[in-house]
Amino acid sequence: MTERVHNFSAGPCTLPLSALEEAQAEFVDYQGAGMALIEMSHRGKHFVAVYEEAIALVRSVFGVPQDFDVLFLQGGATLQFAMVPMNLLGDGRKGGYVNSGTWAKGAIADAKPYGEIYTAWDGADCGYSRMPQSAELVMQSDTRYLHITSNETIGGIRFCEWPQVDVPLIADMSSDYMARPIPWDRFDLVYGGAQKNLGPAGMALVIVRKNVARDNNRDIARYLRYDIHADKDSMFNTPPVFPIYVLGKVLKWMQEQGGVEAMESQAEEKAGILYQAIDNSDGYYRCPVDAGSRSVMNVVFRLPTEELEKAFLAEADKAKLLNLKGHRSVGGCRASIYNAMPRAGVQALADFMATFRSSNRG
Ligand code: PMP
Repeated sequence: MTERVHNFSAGPCTLPLSALEEAQAEFVDYQGAGMALIEMSHRGKHFVAVYEEAIALVRSVFGVPQDFDVLFLQGGATLQFAMVPMNLLGDGRKGGYVNSGTWAKGAIADAKPYGEIYTAWDGADCGYSRMPQSAELVMQSDTRYLHITSNETIGGIRFCEWPQVDVPLIADMSSDYMARPIPWDRFDLVYGGAQKNLGPAGMALVIVRKNVARDNNRDIARYLRYDIHADKDSMFNTPPVFPIYVLGKVLKWMQEQGGVEAMESQAEEKAGILYQAIDNSDGYYRCPVDAGSRSVMNVVFRLPTEELEKAFLAEADKAKLLNLKGHRSVGGCRASIYNAMPRAGVQALADFMATFRSSNRG
C-alpha cells in the first residue's frame, strides 16, 4: 500500500483515496477502450457518460433544484470574479459586496470594470477577524445581488449563518463547496474552484439559476456568457475532461459517506478537535478569528513567537503533517481540513500540537 501523509494543503489538497485509486486503475485503458479517457473525444460515448454522471451527482449530492444549471467552466474561481458582474450587471444595477478578506477583495477588484460596485460591509475595520451580521450590511437601492465569500480560505472565517437581505445572494464557495447544505431559494448563483472539496485544479463549478443565466449582458465574448454554456451543456468548447472525471469520483465518495449533511457534521467534529486543542492550550496556541465566524475548513492559529512557529512547522513536517504554514500574506499556521481529510489526520495534528506545546514551552 502507498504510504500517505497527512496533507493540510489549502488547495489543491487531500482527495479521497478511493477516487485516486479508481482513477489510477482506469487511467491507461479506460473501460477496455484501449485508450485513456483523456485521449478520447469529449463528444464520444465514454466521456458523455462521465459528464452526465458528474452533473447528476452534483445535483443529487448538493440538492440542486431543477431550475438551476450546473456548469463546468475553466478559469477557476478567479474568472467568475469577472464573469458574474459581466453577465449580471449589464442593466445598470449595482453589485453589493461583502469585503471579508483576500478573496472578497479579488472579487471586488475584478467586478469594478463591469458595473457599479459597492462594499456593503468592510471587514478591514476588524482585521478580517469575522463575518458580518445581517443587520450590519448597508445595502443600496437598485442592487442586483449581494456577493459573499462563504469561507475565506486565508483568513479562516466563514458565514455560519447566511445573510438575510432582500436581494439574491451570489457566493464564492471555493473553500467550502458542498461542505453543508445551502438554502437554494436565497441564491442566484454559486461558484468555486474545484481544487479543494471537489477534485483536481483546472475547473470552476458554477451553479446558476436558469433564468439568471439567460437574462444576461450579451455584449461580451461567447466564452464569458453563462447562457451559451448552459445551452450547450458545458460543451460549448472542449470541457475540462479530467477534472470532470475525477469530480465524479469524489462526489460518489461523498454520496457513500452520506452526502453534504454528513460532510457538515464531520467538518464540525474535525474542526472542533483543533479548536479545542487551541482553546485548551492556556493561550499557547491562539486563533485570531472571532468564535462566531470560525471556519470549519481552514483552521488558522498562531504560536507565542514566530521562532516557535518555524520550529512547529519543521517538526510537523518530520511527523508527516504537511503544509501547515499559513498563507504568506498573514503568516502563522493554517490547517486546511476539507471534506476528504480523515478524522485521523486531524487527531494526529491535535496530538502533535499537545506534544509540541509540552516540549517547547519557551
Ligand atoms: N476564492 C477563494 C475563496 C479561494 O480560496 C480561491 C483559491 N484559493 C479562489 C477564489 C481563487 O480560485 P482559483 O485559483 O480557482 O481561481
